[in-house]
Amino acid sequence: MCRRLSSATLEVTQHSGAGPGAPEVEISEMKTVLIVLSVLGVAGLATGCSPSGEQTITMKNAEPQSASTSAPPVRPKITRTDAEWRTLLSPEQYRVLRKAGTERPFGAAYEEFKSQGSGTYVCAGCGALLFSSKEKFDSHCGWPSFYDPANATNVVLHEDRTLGMVRVEVTCAQCGGHLGHVFKGEGFDTPTDQRYCINHASLKFVPDEKPKAAQP
Ligand SMILES: [Zn+2]
Repeated sequence: MCRRLSSATLEVTQHSGAGPGAPEVEISEMKTVLIVLSVLGVAGLATGCSPSGEQTITMKNAEPQSASTSAPPVRPKITRTDAEWRTLLSPEQYRVLRKAGTERPFGAAYEEFKSQGSGTYVCAGCGALLFSSKEKFDSHCGWPSFYDPANATNVVLHEDRTLGMVRVEVTCAQCGGHLGHVFKGEGFDTPTDQRYCINHASLKFVPDEKPKAAQP
């Protein structure tokens, strides 16, 4: 398990007293290494979720770093035409993965996610390993939540300034598909206090194989 992604650095300071039930969390400092994927020219439409559903996350003094520094741009390893993605994905998967859409919170997909047992979550677009049930937790935010990726090399972070906010978008490193956003310092009792708020439509659950029954 990797707590810090090699492709991005996220440093967020949480003000004391803020937590999942707090009305507002102020994140005073945030630095991201901005890595722009060539296929991500679309505007993000996602909205961040919060534990209480009412929490407003504000970020001050954001200091985004230019992508023109020494780090080379990360290119998606899987590239398809828009028409190909439309054929391969369901309309909802296409809207979320390829158009940075956000699915409705607390829907049937969320209930399905909560009921899923042990296993791994792979990208619905390309099958790359993204998360596992080991890092899954119930944030009560209405979207699948993980405190860490299962395979950090398959997850890329980007600064997202859409909707008048500064957030960190999470995408698949293999196909560039939009997954959701990551938030830090909200007071969750997890090893990282990071919340990867991920659209269920971006994920495909692969349950662990059950141990075979003993032979008679
Ligand atoms: Zn993918």
